[in-house]
This record gives sequence, C-alpha cells and structure tokens, in this order.
Amino acid sequence: MIKKGYVHVYTGNGKGKTTAALGLAIRALGAGLNVFMAQFLKSGSSELIAFKRFPEQVSTRQYGSGRFVRGKPAEEDISMARLGLKEAAEALCSGQYQLVILDEANVAASYGLIETKNLVELIETKPNGVELVITGRGADQQVIDKADLVTEMREIKHYYQNAVKARTGIEK
Ligand code: ATP
Ligand code: MG
Repeated sequence: MIKKGYVHVYTGNGKGKTTAALGLAIRALGAGLNVFMAQFLKSGSSELIAFKRFPEQVSTRQYGSGRFVRGKPAEEDISMARLGLKEAAEALCSGQYQLVILDEANVAASYGLIETKNLVELIETKPNGVELVITGRGADQQVIDKADLVTEMREIKHYYQNAVKARTGIEK
C-alpha cells in the first residue's frame, strides 16, 4: 500500500519515458502493488505480453488504432483516446490499483485527442493512495504545474536520427 501517492511526468525528446514508467511498474509489482496502464495512441507493444504473466496484479489497455501518427486525427482515434481517459479515471478511483500509468497521454493531449483540461481534472481527482505517472513528449504546462515530479529526457543522441526505426523488444 502507498500512504501518500505522487504525480510523475516523464517528458522530453530523449528515449526513456515509457521505459521509465515500465521500470516503475516492475518495481511496484515486486512490492506487491497493483498496476493499471493505459497506453494512448498505441496498438501493440511487447510490454503487454510481458504483463500478461501477472494477471492478478496488472491491467493494461491500449487506446490507439495504430494508424494515427500526426496531423488531423480521425474520429476513431479521438473516441478511443477519450475512452482511455475515462477508463483510466475509473481505475484511478477504483481503489484496486496503487500505480496508474497514462502512457503517451501528453501526446494525446497535444494532438487534441483528449482535452488538457480533462487530463488536469483526472490529476485533481487522484486519491491519496495512488501513484500516477503520465508520459509523453510535449507535456502541457498545466500538467507540469499539477505534478510533484517532472523529468525531462533530453536527447543528446538518438539513433532515430540515423533512420533506425522502432525495434521490437527495445522500443516497442
Ligand atoms: P521508450 O519507449 O523507448 O522509452 P520514449 O517513450 O521515451 O521511448 P516516445 O516519444 O514514446 O519515446 O517514442 C519514441 C518512438 O518514436 C521511438 O521509438 C522512435 O522510433 C520514434 N520517433 C519518432 N520521432 C522521433 C524523434 N525525433 N526522436 C526519437 N524518436 C522518434
Ligand atoms: Mg513513449
């Protein structure tokens, strides 16, 4: 159990935002905590397969068609992201989870898939005994203001710049 939970934000352009959240999830599992992870924009990533080995402790949901990259989102992308925010809010207040992760929620907000206002409202409703983690580049200042811990992953080098695409097991 967690006496007082805090709000983390992992943002910036460097690698490590989602993997930091996943690392925290592993640590929490080891300590007997229950984890809910909502992944915005994504439609398949290896961590889901890993977490299936801990069905009593972890629930993961993905709210992306896998098609949206940038530009104008389709209705389907918007409705999936909004469902994600709703289900994450329910998980947050359910009393079932001590760690709730909203992976790429900052990106969903910056593309207008969800409203920043609603993300801020979710933070405000966080019960005391839950640790909340929000990831994604381009965190809104309002989200940063509400957080207790903000880490910016700063890109010094990234092989993406050398045309290395996301690899299974390393980036996805
Ligand atoms: P990880 O999941 O490995 O911890 P992250 O969560 O910090 O990474 P994201 O911003 O969620 O990073 O996703 C980065 C992915 O998007 C990379 O795996 C890469 O393939 C791709 N990508 C697109 N543009 C860039 C860019 N300018 N710099 C780095 N990665 C980029
Ligand atoms: Mg990420």
